[in-house]
Amino acid sequence: MYMYVYIIIIWRDIYLKENVYSKINLESIKTEETDASSVTKITSKKNSVSKRKTSVRRNKTDAAKEAISIVPVQDKKTNVKRRAVRRSNTNSVRNKETASSNDLPTVQVISLGGLEEIGKNMTLIRCSGQVLIIDCGMAFPDDDLLGIDVVIPDFSYLENIKDEIVGLALTHGHEDHIGGIPFLLEKFNIPIYGTALTIGLVKNKLEETAIDSDKILHVVKAGQTIQLGEFSIEFIHTNHSIPDSVALCITTPGGRIVHTGDFKIDYTPVVEETADLRRFAEIGKQGVLALLCDSTNAERPGNSVSESVVGASFEALFSRTEGKRVIIATFASNVQRIQQIVDFAEHHKRKIAVSGRSMINTVALAKELGYLHYSEDTLIAIEEINRYKPDELVIITTGSQGEPMSALARMAAGTHRQVSISKQDMIIISATPIPGNEKTVTGVINSLLKLGSDVVYESMYEIHASGHACQNEIKLILSLIRPRYFMPVHGEYKHLLRNAAVAKQLGYDDKRIVLAEIGDVVSFSDQHVKITDKVESGKTLVDGIGVGDVGVAVLRDRQHLASDGMVLIVCSIDQNDGKLISEPDIISRGFVYMKDSEELIKQVKDIASGIVDKYSGNDRRRRSELKNELRSEIGNYLYSKTKRNPMILTLVTEI
Ligand SMILES: [Zn+2]
Ligand SMILES: [Zn+2]
Repeated sequence: MYMYVYIIIIWRDIYLKENVYSKINLESIKTEETDASSVTKITSKKNSVSKRKTSVRRNKTDAAKEAISIVPVQDKKTNVKRRAVRRSNTNSVRNKETASSNDLPTVQVISLGGLEEIGKNMTLIRCSGQVLIIDCGMAFPDDDLLGIDVVIPDFSYLENIKDEIVGLALTHGHEDHIGGIPFLLEKFNIPIYGTALTIGLVKNKLEETAIDSDKILHVVKAGQTIQLGEFSIEFIHTNHSIPDSVALCITTPGGRIVHTGDFKIDYTPVVEETADLRRFAEIGKQGVLALLCDSTNAERPGNSVSESVVGASFEALFSRTEGKRVIIATFASNVQRIQQIVDFAEHHKRKIAVSGRSMINTVALAKELGYLHYSEDTLIAIEEINRYKPDELVIITTGSQGEPMSALARMAAGTHRQVSISKQDMIIISATPIPGNEKTVTGVINSLLKLGSDVVYESMYEIHASGHACQNEIKLILSLIRPRYFMPVHGEYKHLLRNAAVAKQLGYDDKRIVLAEIGDVVSFSDQHVKITDKVESGKTLVDGIGVGDVGVAVLRDRQHLASDGMVLIVCSIDQNDGKLISEPDIISRGFVYMKDSEELIKQVKDIASGIVDKYSGNDRRRRSELKNELRSEIGNYLYSKTKRNPMILTLVTEI
């Protein structure tokens, strides 16, 4: 009997898996051709694969007695069958799992982004039929997502639980936490809560949209608690590379969850106070069910560098700048850094000009909100710089990541309208390249050096301080909060694993640490933490103004074109007898240099003529077969000659 059930489960597993794959492919192709507004399920496929990975991982850690039951879930909207992996003890029923022994409801934590990746952070806290969303970020695309501008979380799951959403609470104003908001608001009308600077930055973002931001944006002060449905949410001051960052303590009917947000502990911060450690300790005493903790710097031992150390390095550098103009590139959102630059400029009686749209906006907003202080006559417009001598100026600019359209990149390329670089410039790049950006940053540095300027960058001085907690700070937060369960968030797998190792040093065993993947439903109760389900999650790609209209098929084409180019075969045939009217035309782009490949092209033309000849005759129905054969025969021939696989397009016109 058991054997029989087991076989059925395996059979169903295989059947569903194949079904998912084929449906998804069909779907993305359909999307590409007809429907520009539909959302692409780009990682559904990946999810089914990673589901297997998850269960394997859990197999290793959990007791071997446990069994996996696989339940097909029919998604109404997309008609894609998905598997939900539900784990339970062999002799327990599902009801047992959702209610713990003292009848407190379980609290579910679901990440729609930010697990096993850097960026597009988004976490759901779900309890008693209500959901709070924490952050809604974006990520920049990897190199293999050709032509994609921005990546945001897949919101499909939110559609299913739309009526449960009580609101969106924000931890801070970085793009990887707020960048997805305009796209989220297109689909869901929900209230948003955050501190003044965070809300100010969101408001700037929404200005370009038709959304009435005043109605939905709500400013909360650090230290304040708000009530949303069954949840009470306390905003707790932390330190980070942008002011007004907070951790969130969410009290739900099932217990308390603390989410650190991006944080570090800076005992000598520049514009704010040290993180509210006293409050963390109090909350810890009252009892916390789970702590969700930033993992970005968990690989680094010790403590993060204080922002004020950067100031000391600036001081040393400024003493070397005699007679020179100073240009400093940093993140627009790093208001503390900008404040230190302003302080030195004022001290050395230099004027400040700001270049780059996001830098100009942030400086204005931070000044308005009282996070940035400078005297009115310090700041001059970038158009005015020619009225001053080089040593009377500091220019603060965007482009510390080498972004191609940024102000610094334009200066390096000699295309910046107001700033031309010469040997009278000292350029300081005050930021570490985000992984993946190293090449572009190096390119910009080389161009700036070629123009004769002096360039100082990260590895030379301590001119950047990370905004994320290192191991000692994680240990401190853990010791203050003393949660029952610890869940590393925000980081690639290696970061999450290191963060878990830090918790283990403090005596947390495997049963109290949960390593989850994007889409996993992590259920916390008094008795245990379990991954009980998997929801639809992944990436939605934004290409220009189209959201989610670039699917697997489009990407595959772009990758194909990028790696081997394309060949177009144009044949004009007689509409009656299907015979060639003239010699086939071969056009190639990014494949071979045509002039050097006359022989190859001639051969291709001959093959094409032969195939057209074979299909000539009165039977028009065979003409789609003609195209297929042209593609495959010529593809094979080109591969045999060049070992390349260009994309082959055919154009057969009947005249
Ligand atoms: Zn951040
Ligand atoms: Zn972040």
